Amino acid sequence: MPDHASGRIDLARLQEVLDGPWAEVRNAHRKHLDARFLPVYGETGDQARERITRLLSELPVELGIASAFPTEYGGRSDVGGSIVATEMLAQVDLSLMVKAGVQWGLFGGAVAALGTRRHHDAYLRDIVSGRIFGCFAMTETGHGSDVQQLRTTCTYDPRTQTFDLHTPHEAARKDYIGNAARDGRMAVVFAQLLANGRRHGVHAWLVPIRDAQGKPLPGVTIGDAGAKAGLLGVDNGRLSFDHVQVPRDMLLDRYGRVAEDGTYSSPIENDSRRFFTMLGTLVRGRVSVGGAASAATRSALTIAVRYGDIRRQFGTPDAEREVLLNDYLAHQRKLLPALATTYALHFAQAELVAALDEVQGGDGPVDEHRQRELESRAAGLKAAQTWHATRTIQMCREACGGAGYLSENRLPSLKADTDVFTTFEGDNTVLLQLVAKGLLTGHRDEFGSLDGWGRASFVAEQVREMVLERTAARSLIERLVSAVPGRDEEVAVTDRGWQLKAFEDRERHLLDGAVRRLRNGAATKKDRPFDIFNDVQDHVLAVAAAHVDRVALEAFVAGIEDTADPAVRALLSRVCDLYALSVIEAHKGWFLEHGRLTPARSKAITGVVNGLLKELRPHMRTLVDGFAIPDAWLHAAILREEPRRQESMAAHDAAGDPQAVPA
Ligand SMILES: Cc1cc2nc3c(=O)[nH]c(=O)nc-3n(C[C@H](O)[C@H](O)[C@H](O)COP(=O)(O)OP(=O)(O)OC[C@H]3O[C@@H](n4cnc5c(N)ncnc54)[C@H](O)[C@@H]3O)c2cc1C
Repeated sequence: MPDHASGRIDLARLQEVLDGPWAEVRNAHRKHLDARFLPVYGETGDQARERITRLLSELPVELGIASAFPTEYGGRSDVGGSIVATEMLAQVDLSLMVKAGVQWGLFGGAVAALGTRRHHDAYLRDIVSGRIFGCFAMTETGHGSDVQQLRTTCTYDPRTQTFDLHTPHEAARKDYIGNAARDGRMAVVFAQLLANGRRHGVHAWLVPIRDAQGKPLPGVTIGDAGAKAGLLGVDNGRLSFDHVQVPRDMLLDRYGRVAEDGTYSSPIENDSRRFFTMLGTLVRGRVSVGGAASAATRSALTIAVRYGDIRRQFGTPDAEREVLLNDYLAHQRKLLPALATTYALHFAQAELVAALDEVQGGDGPVDEHRQRELESRAAGLKAAQTWHATRTIQMCREACGGAGYLSENRLPSLKADTDVFTTFEGDNTVLLQLVAKGLLTGHRDEFGSLDGWGRASFVAEQVREMVLERTAARSLIERLVSAVPGRDEEVAVTDRGWQLKAFEDRERHLLDGAVRRLRNGAATKKDRPFDIFNDVQDHVLAVAAAHVDRVALEAFVAGIEDTADPAVRALLSRVCDLYALSVIEAHKGWFLEHGRLTPARSKAITGVVNGLLKELRPHMRTLVDGFAIPDAWLHAAILREEPRRQESMAAHDAAGDPQAVPA
């Protein structure tokens, strides 16, 4: 085991592994984003909006935040780089990251993905340069998760060759829309397309919403979504349309066209299939949100771990000084497993970004199967990373005691700003169902179609036989798993093959159980497809969660395999043990219930986890330093002031003046 104290872990080597292939994008952010870009604590909403809008236009071009766009429009055709840039911005200011994400990810991304050459030529350059600010107006007050049921209509009239965009009632109002309340000049508006008396499902139009002076255009009503829990710098608003006339060529028509006479045509005949293909092209936003959540988690953990290394509380009879927080087992139990999960998710995210870059970054035709697999992986990891962020940032807040509650120590804003990540870009519970459906698809013949689950089934149908399809390092993982002897008791719980097998086994068993229950349901509730699925919903969500756990473990194992430096590799291997065993420990009930662990072995795991905590204690600081977050970006007063306080207290204590010890 490497020893940080004796300097055997070379931080630069650890950083290299974590920075991955887009290290230069990360370094450009570290270099160019100075204190000007950091959050300002205690601002009003108006001040925050004004500042973030200004900063957005001051973002140095070198950073490549809009790098996903084709070079000819001012981008760099670098999809992976744009995701990593978003992640880095999230470490500086989450409002800035979300505002940038709305402009270049959602709005610009939708024009690029759903529009055709004439839209690109006319608008992309100005969108990339920030001359046109825009919104992505999909959600309505009445429909957020089930967006196929949007109520806004856009009806084509061949006589005027325009569409009539209309909000028929209040629940059809576009809601929560980023960039709408203040800055957006245009919006990509999603609505039901009607032409020649026929409905063709949800499509998107590029619609001007404000004039050059910033006033709403005729027929467009713009409101403010009001005070929010966080993300104060983002102007979320509401949009309604009263028979707004939209020229025919403003339909983003890559997936559906309307001829002058109102004839509709599409390369994808089935409305539902077309809709989910359209949504699939927008997967980049979801991948960015997952990455941003993890970036914020890394900031919170860095603050808490560094604070725990300087903050002392309670003395022991045999020591001169009080005990450091990080020396308490309970504190290690809080921070280290969360840190291990953060590492696992970091490797999984890196794998996902590389896959996205490959699938969407090339010029050739997109491989359907890989695209669907990507969507499922993006959904699962977005849910895992954002839930992990919410839990971990709260835990870090508590780990810093009262200081963690003060705005000047960053954690309150990290908490408030990331909270909604579990909801936007797809509600996590809904996303996990998407993952589960993909896994169940291979078993469809056993319980009939997946229609009982509603409209997302198309996505599932495309993701064939995903279960146990290996993520990365396929042959290594297969080798490790097959080397595990039949009798569990003979294998150490730190054996990687055993851990991988345990994860795989849990996923497979949960999946088999869900299939069995669905099959039984199909036999007795034939005419009630909703009940067949609803009665098993908890079970299928558990399948999806187990799947994501396995994906993360396999990515971690692959990441270690790719690590050349032996000391870093050894450290990562222990962190991976902690991740794997913490997950097993958290699901002890399941492993015991299903005879996968004996009570004795289950108890032994708790002991091994505690042993790992002790072993990793000296490396806590190294593990957060590996994230290479510039000191200034942490923006937490406790990290600057606490050492000074501790020193002054120690000096007073040494001078033998107990009265001088501060309360
Ligand atoms: C700050 C903020 C910014 C946003 N920015 C934008 C934007 O720029 N553009 C845009 O178009 N939208 C935006 N949104 C909207 C966001 O995408 C939606 O809020 C989100 O998709 C969830 O929809 P909903 O709010 O209607 O929740 P609902 O879908 O009503 O969900 C509510 C609850 O019901 C549960 N639920 C729903 N369906 C099921 C089911 N089938 N099974 C089990 N449980 C279920 C969910 O898990 C959740 O707990 C933003 C939202 C916020 C808060």
